Amino acid sequence: MKLSYDDVKRHIAHINLKKIGSFGQKKIIDTKILIVGIGGLGSPVATYLASSGVSNIGIVDHDKIDISNLQRQILFNEEDVNKFKVDIAEKKLKKINSKIKIKKFKTKIDDNNINKIAKQYDLIIDGTDSFKTKLLINDYCYKNKKILICGAISKFDGHVFVFNFKKKNSPCLRCFMPNIPSTDMLDCQSEGVLSTLAGMVGVIMTNETIREILNFENSLCGNILIINAENFLIKKIKLKKNKDCIKKIK
Ligand SMILES: [Zn+2]
Repeated sequence: MKLSYDDVKRHIAHINLKKIGSFGQKKIIDTKILIVGIGGLGSPVATYLASSGVSNIGIVDHDKIDISNLQRQILFNEEDVNKFKVDIAEKKLKKINSKIKIKKFKTKIDDNNINKIAKQYDLIIDGTDSFKTKLLINDYCYKNKKILICGAISKFDGHVFVFNFKKKNSPCLRCFMPNIPSTDMLDCQSEGVLSTLAGMVGVIMTNETIREILNFENSLCGNILIINAENFLIKKIKLKKNKDCIKKIK
């Protein structure tokens, strides 16, 4: 199927980029993406995915909006407090593009529901704050050969991981973190987190999403990107594949 007249008009700035063109834009539109956690990271991710043209988005989050979320969760306003994040996210994203199909999952992703929720999506974005959930999503993507873009933020530090399990030899999150750390949660509220760090890491995650969809060179797959917002440093570190991970996943 070709791009519609409306799609060409809307996405002309992408189409005019030789590296994207109509073909690339069609790929962006057709990629089905699941966002797990629509908070500090999920907000910028969802916003840029919607504006970039992704037309099939799933959102998983069981939480309601709290006033303390507004410091960094840019999808939400004062009037949204106490409402479910997925409901407000759907409303806001539809304002960007009314044709987007959004599937809401008002639940916590777990062992029992991950297969059913994630099955129909090509690429999974992990914006959750629990290491246990991160490993669960990692294992699912590994087993089902999906692309995983994973982000984490705490205080002034952010991490971005890209795992393209369609490629052979992609490392996984367990290569970096074999076991669940003793403090399972990356608790932004009590640990503290810089507002703009959530934005930067979220936008980098979306950038990497687009690069994976379009198969750009120099994929981040196999590296950790470390962002320090206090001193503004960005570092890329190569991740070694650990062969023992497979035993833990299977
Ligand atoms: Zn691994």
